Amino acid sequence: MAAEKWVLMVTAQTPTNIAVIKYWGKRDETLILPVNDSISVTLDPDHLCTTTTVAVSPSFDQDRMWLNGKEISLGGGRYQNCLKEIRSRACDVEDTEKGIKIEKKDWQKLHLHIASFNNFPTAAGLASSAAGFACLVFSLAKLMNLKENQSQLSAIARQGSGSACRSLFGGFVKWILGKEGNGSDSLAVQLVDEEHWNDLVIIIAVVSSRQKETSSTTGMRESVETSLLLQHRAKVQFLILSDCLEDIGSCYNN
Ligand code: ADP
Repeated sequence: MAAEKWVLMVTAQTPTNIAVIKYWGKRDETLILPVNDSISVTLDPDHLCTTTTVAVSPSFDQDRMWLNGKEISLGGGRYQNCLKEIRSRACDVEDTEKGIKIEKKDWQKLHLHIASFNNFPTAAGLASSAAGFACLVFSLAKLMNLKENQSQLSAIARQGSGSACRSLFGGFVKWILGKEGNGSDSLAVQLVDEEHWNDLVIIIAVVSSRQKETSSTTGMRESVETSLLLQHRAKVQFLILSDCLEDIGSCYNN
């Protein structure tokens, strides 16, 4: 096999998550840092999920991505931010069966092809961005042999879409808003796993699969700029969150 002919691929599946205490409003739009902590429950990957395949080959001359079979631009800052963060942490990879050896430094010049499918309506309010960016970061981390743990990966997924950080764990998940200016401590942690509340059933009724008229980014920006109540909401949510955590904790202990 000629050196240029090989392709190395990884496929992953990631579920979406539904907020119990909702993330709404950013304090930093570039790093995607929220104004409040949030909690969500991750859905069963057999139901609503994203499947993403990432591939690398010396024959690829640029990074490209297809979403639900249609090519999309990777130009938007969010995709580039995730790719940059992951490439900077990439490690050596060796596939002895295929005779492929990629060194850490090679990742800076190798290009990627990414194909992703959502098995539920995209951009319609069912958190496709959460499942999508979590799956993108997870599959790339596997391909490039990152050593980071799930919470550290969640801080990268967050830079694609805030709520994506919570989709890297099952069960009930908290996104800690964090204090650091660079966002390094704004990440997700698992509160209890998917076995914790086994008989919990979430029914999702899709009333429309059409793309929503106001994207979450625009909606949040308008709330931050114009709502006098948003700061109060963030504070009230903090109190509810504390209660919620106690409840989950006490169920867990029982
Ligand atoms: P939703 O409520 O479905 O999250 P958003 O408008 O917040 O709607 O986000 C939709 C955007 O998320 C899409 O336009 C696309 O940029 C991104 N997205 C959706 N699915 C994926 C995916 N599987 N992989 C990568 N990005 C995705």
